[in-house]
Amino acid sequence: MNLQEKLAILADAAKYDASCASSGGNRRDSSDGKGVGSSGGAGICHSYAPDGRCISLLKVLLTNRCLYDCHYCINRRSSNVRRAAFTPEEVVRLTLDFYKRNYIEGLFLSSGIIRSADHTMEMVNEIARALREVHDFRGYIHLKTIPEASPELIEQAARYADRISINLELPTQQSLDRLAPEKNLARTKYAMGRIRLKLEDASERKKTGDKKLRHATSQSTQVIVGADASTDADFLTRSEELYGSYRMSRVYYSAFSPIPEPSSLLPLAPPPLIREHRLYQADWLMRFYGFRPGEIVTPEFPYLDLNMDPKLAWALRQRHEFPVDLQKATRAQLLRVPGLGVRNVDRILSIRRHVSLRLEDLARLRVSLAKVRPFIITADYHPGNLLESEHLYQRLVPKPVQLELFPHALR
Ligand code: SF4
Repeated sequence: MNLQEKLAILADAAKYDASCASSGGNRRDSSDGKGVGSSGGAGICHSYAPDGRCISLLKVLLTNRCLYDCHYCINRRSSNVRRAAFTPEEVVRLTLDFYKRNYIEGLFLSSGIIRSADHTMEMVNEIARALREVHDFRGYIHLKTIPEASPELIEQAARYADRISINLELPTQQSLDRLAPEKNLARTKYAMGRIRLKLEDASERKKTGDKKLRHATSQSTQVIVGADASTDADFLTRSEELYGSYRMSRVYYSAFSPIPEPSSLLPLAPPPLIREHRLYQADWLMRFYGFRPGEIVTPEFPYLDLNMDPKLAWALRQRHEFPVDLQKATRAQLLRVPGLGVRNVDRILSIRRHVSLRLEDLARLRVSLAKVRPFIITADYHPGNLLESEHLYQRLVPKPVQLELFPHALR
């Protein structure tokens, strides 16, 4: 198998990992001798660096062979897919070639588990080591690590990478037992805990003078949504723990996508994509708006309302907390008003020192008045008994949008 064929298989096999989101462009190439360049098949995806820059990454697996049999994974032991494996030297060469041609600014490397977790981790580390130490590669490296590998090997990966991640995949041990029998929640959390300590240690050393120290600065993880009966409450509760106890920089929610020749334990259809979107919104509320999972989802309602964003759904359940007076409310209260984002809350806090806020001020801030009106008081507005209306939910549910039959460009 030549390098191009391996790349086609191993870049395709890596696409299921959402912790480095792929861009979705049209496939074009110049294999017919016309034009220059190619947009597909090379496994290039886009990600964001810690400073917010969008960067292109070569996103590949070292191999799609695997000893494990995770039911949701196309690379599982029992899957009937074409297998391939790079040598570490091939990955190094591909990365450098792509980098020199300006195709990529970094590498996202993951792998199925071959021989043992330690053996696989050693190969992954060898690639990162060669890039950094032999070729002085200064691009971005994201390494997917294996929780079953020895802590020393995971720590070594963190010394070469900018970001490392361990995929949790499912939020409870019960779910793992059913769909990923070789995986263990406690072991994964132990590995994440060690990484957290190493990240903190490295950050401390950098602050106290070791400026040249190279070390990953963050860790992330991915969970698969809709592959089993795990509820949104299960995911959000686990995410809160991951952000709090393990200082995860991101938890990625990846809607389960059916794979060829699926296991009979998997659902036949994927979950609605909007569920993934609502989980990201709820995750955002926990990270930036001070919400706890128990406020967003409850034992009676363990799933997010797919019809509206979780903050609006929460406010409609907690009507007694509204309306809030925009002139007097605390920052924490303002952050809970549907339709007000962090930036607008900060602007409101600044503006209200000089003027009495009116609806027109909100319109100027491009706040959706239709969404915010039932929940606020301004100098010129009070919602009256709007919050008591039994039709408020129907009024606020976003109206379905009719898709255009003809694209704009064709008109
Ligand atoms: S360990 Fe990773 S590559 Fe192997 S089957 Fe499980 S999810 Fe797939």
